[in-house]
Amino acid sequence: MTMKESTSPAGTVRDAEAPEKKLELKSTLTLPETKFPMKANLPQNEPARLKQWKDSGLYEQIRTARKGAPKYILHYGPPYANGPIHLGHALQKCIKDFILKSKTMAGFDAPLVPGWDCHGLPIEIKVDEKLGRKKLEMPALSVLKACREYAQKFINLQRSQLVRLGVFAYWDKPYLTMSKPYEARTLETFYDFFEKGFVYKGLKPVYWCLHDRTALAEAEVEYEMHTSPSVYVRYALTSDPGAIDPALAGKQVSTIIWTTTPWTLPASLAVAFHPEFDYVALEQDADVYIVAEALAAAVREACKLEGAKEIAKFKGAKLERVTFKHPFLDRSVLGVNADYVTADTGTGAVHTAPAHGADDFYTGARYGLDQTCNVDNEGRLRNGRSEWEGFNVFEANEPIIKVLGELGALMGRSDIYHSYPHCWRCHNPVIFRATEQWFISMETPLKTEIGADTTFRQRALDEIKRVKWDPAWGDERIYNMIATRPDWCISRQRIWGVPIAVFLCNKCHEPLKNDLVNKHVVALFEKEGAEAWHKHSVDDLLPGGTKCQKCGNVHDDGGLAEFRKEMDILDVWFDSGISWNAVLVDNPELAFPADLYIEGADQHRGWFHSSLLCSVAVKDTAPYKNVATVGWTLDEQGRAFSKSLGNGVDPVDIADRLGAEIVRVWTASVDFREDVAASENLMQRAADNYRKLRNTFKYLLGNLHGFDPVRDAVKDEELLPLDRYMLARTRELTEKVLSWYDQFEFHRVFHAINEFTIVDLSALYLDVLKDRMYTFAPVSLERRSAQTVMWKITEALVRLVAPILSFTAEEVWGYLPKTPQREASVHLALFLKPEEIEAERDEALMQDWRELLSIRDKVLLKLEQLRKDKRIGKSLEAKVLIGSEPKTGVLLAKYDSALKELFNVSQVEVGSVDPDHKLYYLKNRQHVDAHSHVYGEPFVTHTVKLEVEDADGIKCERCWNYRTDTDQYGPWSVVCGRCREQLDLMGYKSIAEQQDAEKQAHA
Ligand SMILES: [Zn+2]
Ligand SMILES: [Zn+2]
Ligand SMILES: [Zn+2]
Repeated sequence: MTMKESTSPAGTVRDAEAPEKKLELKSTLTLPETKFPMKANLPQNEPARLKQWKDSGLYEQIRTARKGAPKYILHYGPPYANGPIHLGHALQKCIKDFILKSKTMAGFDAPLVPGWDCHGLPIEIKVDEKLGRKKLEMPALSVLKACREYAQKFINLQRSQLVRLGVFAYWDKPYLTMSKPYEARTLETFYDFFEKGFVYKGLKPVYWCLHDRTALAEAEVEYEMHTSPSVYVRYALTSDPGAIDPALAGKQVSTIIWTTTPWTLPASLAVAFHPEFDYVALEQDADVYIVAEALAAAVREACKLEGAKEIAKFKGAKLERVTFKHPFLDRSVLGVNADYVTADTGTGAVHTAPAHGADDFYTGARYGLDQTCNVDNEGRLRNGRSEWEGFNVFEANEPIIKVLGELGALMGRSDIYHSYPHCWRCHNPVIFRATEQWFISMETPLKTEIGADTTFRQRALDEIKRVKWDPAWGDERIYNMIATRPDWCISRQRIWGVPIAVFLCNKCHEPLKNDLVNKHVVALFEKEGAEAWHKHSVDDLLPGGTKCQKCGNVHDDGGLAEFRKEMDILDVWFDSGISWNAVLVDNPELAFPADLYIEGADQHRGWFHSSLLCSVAVKDTAPYKNVATVGWTLDEQGRAFSKSLGNGVDPVDIADRLGAEIVRVWTASVDFREDVAASENLMQRAADNYRKLRNTFKYLLGNLHGFDPVRDAVKDEELLPLDRYMLARTRELTEKVLSWYDQFEFHRVFHAINEFTIVDLSALYLDVLKDRMYTFAPVSLERRSAQTVMWKITEALVRLVAPILSFTAEEVWGYLPKTPQREASVHLALFLKPEEIEAERDEALMQDWRELLSIRDKVLLKLEQLRKDKRIGKSLEAKVLIGSEPKTGVLLAKYDSALKELFNVSQVEVGSVDPDHKLYYLKNRQHVDAHSHVYGEPFVTHTVKLEVEDADGIKCERCWNYRTDTDQYGPWSVVCGRCREQLDLMGYKSIAEQQDAEKQAHA
C-alpha cells in the first residue's frame, strides 16, 4: 500500500508520491496552493483575454443573458474621428464602462452602442492639406471620398484602442455620423425643423474664421489673448451744432470714437450714444469734442486734451439723428441711440458697423442702415478705398491708421493686449461678418403641454429643470447658456458634411417647402449618402411641375432651372445633436429618452446643448434624464498636458507597458467629477495598488484549494466567531459598494475595496488565520469555517471589482471553486446581494467585534512595544493576560475561544480588574502580581488592563505555539495535543506509527 492510498483526505500530504522518503513534520502542514500567477503579465495576457472574449461572443452572451431585464441606457457621445485616443478619452470611456458593467451586474440590460463624429472642418482641413492644390481641381465626390477614408482610418484606430482598454460595447456596429442611414436621419431631422418653421435664412453677423473660410457657432469660438491697435478717431459733425446745445452754435464740433478694429472703419455707418448718459463738449483751440462725461478724464489723457475746457453738457438723446462725416470716405454717418453703450471703456461714442457686430447689426436694422458686408469670405476688404482693396482685414489696420493720421482724424493710438475671440480649430483670431446664413430661431413659437403660448427657448429651459445634472452646477451653466444664446447658426460654407438639402427659388429666393420632395431626398440619402446631393442635378431631384409656394414659380422639367440647390452644409453640432434620433429612437434594444449622457464638462455648450435643442424641437422633451460630466485630465501640478512640457500620459502606452488594467485602476482612483491628476508616477502608484489587490486574490485562492462549496461549506450559525464577523464585514462592504456604484462614486468603491483588502483582510483576517489554515486538518470544522468565509469573500469581491478590474476579475473567476450553474464569465454574473453573503444582519455581533478589535489594537501595540524592547521575539512566545471591568469581562468570556487566534499569541487568560487595578484571572485565580517574568507596566485603559508574560510550556515543532501538552507523535517528539488531534484527523496515525517502528528498528 502506498502512502498516498493510506492517507484518507485527498491532497493533504505533499510528498505522498515518495513512500520510501521519511515524512517530515513540516509536510503535514496545509499551505496555500494555487496556479493563479503572482505576476500579472498584463501587457501579454490582456490581448489574449480580449481574443477569448471576442471568440466566445461574450458581449452578445451578456446581451442575451439580460434580455427582458429593466433597461439602463447610457447614450454614448461620439468622439471626433481624428487622431488617436488621449487620456481624457480613456478616462471618459472607462467611466462609462464602469457604469454599464456595474449596471449589468446589478441586473440591468445596459447595452452600449458606441459612435463617432465624422463630418466637419478638422477632417476637411487635413484632407485639404493632403490633397493640396489638387483638391481645387477634384470633383466634390472625390473630396468626400477622401474625407470618408480619413475618418474611417481614425475610427478603426480609436476603436482598437478602446477595445484594448477592456471597454465593452457593440464595437462591430457603431453609429457613424457619416453612414448613409445616419446622414439620411440628419437630413430628415433638419427637414423636421424646417417644416415646423424653426429655420430661416438671413443676413446676420456671425463669427467668421478667415483661415477656415466658414461661419462658426458660439461653441466654436474660444477667447485667447491678442494684440490689437487701440485708436481714437474724430468724426466731424456736419449737422447744426446749435441744435444740440446753444453753447455749440457756430463752432467746429466733432465726436471721438474708440476702436480696436480699425479695419471695420470702412464699414462705419453710425455713431451710437447712450440716450441717458451725460455727454460733455470739450473745447481746445478751435475744436470742440463730444464725449461721455464719465469717460472724459480718460479721453483727455489718451487724446492729449488735458487743457480743454468744458463748454456744454447734455444727454446722449440730443445726439440722435445728428450727422457726421466719415473720416476718410465720402459718406454721411448717422448719430444713433443705443442702450448697450457702456461707460467703462472708450469714449461713450461707439463707432457702428452693422456688418461686423451683433449689436451694430440690430442698431443698423432699427435705423434702416445698409447691412451689406464689404469683407469677403477670405477676410479681404472690398469696396473701401482703392489703396487697400483686397487687403486682409488685420493687414489693413496699419494702412488705415496711416490714412487717419494723414487726414488729421487720428486723436490717439496705442496697442492693447486683450482677450479676443479665436477659432477653436485653427486658433486664428476671428471676425464678425454679416453673411447669409441658415438659422434655427430660438424664439420659434411653441405650445406648452396645456396649450399655452411659449417659445422654443422657453421649452428648452423648462426641460433643463426636469433633468438631473451631476454635478449640480451643470444645471445653471446650461440654463444660462440657453437663456442668453443667439439663434443657432446651422450653416457652414464647407463640403464635408450633410448638405442643407433645400431648393431655392431662382425668382424670389425663397426656400422650397415641399414635404414630398423632402421625403424623396431623404430616401436618396439612405441609398447614396450625402453624396446624392452632389451627384444629382436639380432636374433629377425635382419632379416637373414643382411650384414655389411663395411666388408660384414652376419647375419645368428639363427646361430653365427655376430652382437651385443650397450647397451649405450643416453645423456638425447638428449632426451629433440628433444622435438620439439616429441611434435610440428606432432601436428596440435601446430606449428614448436615455437614462444618461456623460461627457466632458465642456459639453454644456456642445453636445448636451445641441442634443437638448434638437430633441425639444422634434420630440418636445429632453433626450436624457440624467447628465453627468467628467473633469479634465491635468498633470500633478495642475497643468494641462502639452508636448512642450513633456508631461503627457498616453493611455495606449500605459496599456502596452503596464496594462490596460492600470489605466482602469487609475481611473477608479480619482474623483472624476473634479479635474483629475495623471502622471507616470501616479500610474506606477496605481500599479502598486493593483499588485496588492492581486496578491490578496492569490492568497484567498490558495487557501480555497481542496474546498468544494457544495460539500464543505459551513452554515452561518456554525461558523467560528471571527469567521462569522468577517462575513458580516463582507456584507457591510457589499452594501456600501453597491450604493456607491449606483451613484457613480467609483473612487469610493476603489478606496473601500482597497481598505478592506489591506485592513480587514491582510492586516487582520488573513494574518490571524495562518495558524488555523496551516495546522488544522482540511476536514476540521475550524478550517472549513474559514474556507467558507474566504470563499464567500472571494465570490463577493471578484464581482465587486469586476466593473473596474475587468481582466483580473475574469482571471480570478477561472480559479474559483466550480459550483453548479456558475456563469462562464464574471461579466455574466450578478453582484452578490448582501443577504446572499450573510443571511441575516447581526448588529449585536458587529458591536461585539468593534470592541474586540479595539482591544486587539491595544494588545498589538503592547506586543510591538515589548518586541522593540527585545523582551519578546515572536508573538507566539507570549501569553496575554487581560483584566477588565465586568461588562467587558462578559464580552471577553463570550469570545474566549477566539482570542488566542485574534491576538496571534500562544495563550490568553481573561480575568477581572480589582479596584486597585490588580488583575485576577478566572481560569486559575492566580494573582498576577506574584507571577515572575512580568514585563512592562500594566496597560490601563477604560475597560481593560493588559499584561504580557512568557507563554507557558514549550514550542510545538509543528505549529510553533507554546503548549503545556506536547508529546511524542510517531517519530516526532514535540507535538502539541492540538496538532496530534489534527494529524489523527488527517490519517497520519498509522504512517506515524510505521515510521516510529522503523526508527526503533534502526536504533
Ligand atoms: Zn479657423
Ligand atoms: Zn419663388
Ligand atoms: Zn502544535
